[in-house]
Amino acid sequence: MTRIPSQCAVCRAWPAQRVCEECVRRFARPVPRCRRCAIHVLSGQPICGPCLLHPPTLSSCHAALDYAFPWSACIADFKFHDDPSWAGMLGQLMMQAPGVADAVQQADWVLPIPLSRHRLRERGYNQAALLAQQLTRDRLQPDLLWRLQDTPAQASLTRAQRLRNLRHSFALNPGQTPLLKDRRVLLIDDVMTTGATLHSAARVLRQAGGAREVHACVLARTPAPC
Ligand SMILES: [Zn+2]
Ligand SMILES: [Zn+2]
Repeated sequence: MTRIPSQCAVCRAWPAQRVCEECVRRFARPVPRCRRCAIHVLSGQPICGPCLLHPPTLSSCHAALDYAFPWSACIADFKFHDDPSWAGMLGQLMMQAPGVADAVQQADWVLPIPLSRHRLRERGYNQAALLAQQLTRDRLQPDLLWRLQDTPAQASLTRAQRLRNLRHSFALNPGQTPLLKDRRVLLIDDVMTTGATLHSAARVLRQAGGAREVHACVLARTPAPC
């Protein structure tokens, strides 16, 4: 995407923010989502069938957007084209999504999903941490959860392979682990696909850290399970 500051990245109208108000109204309209996994549900249905059958590790999950046109391109720009300045606008969209402000307010700690040190060096910034900074400053704990290893491109793997890969991906910062005992934690990530990353992090926070509840807010959710 070209970077003309006052032009909408979607419809090219200008003057505009990164994405103009008209496009936000059109493409970021809230839809009913499952409270536990943020997948689309019918209006009035609080929880999707799979989450009723097998309650996930996350106590709740909110998503602001679908990971689809036009947001997938904006997020790719944010993540892969060295353009951290998207964080302000996308963080604001997160904060305005139903349930997100409450989730932030009720959390004892807000933790961005970390990148491995290698990936962080490569990219120069962690997009999830930049989003989390837009949501809160005083409850942010950016160094409590560690990512031990990079996982291969998740899209090319089966669900079973993905889960196996993630099993040993996260660890807790030993110096900060006592902060978690009986606390309510909110995880922040940019994109949720199957949820395997978030669930793996939530398991570590609960089992190794003794967190009471782990919730999640993500910028974008793939519209259907893959
Ligand atoms: Zn526009
Ligand atoms: Zn669900």
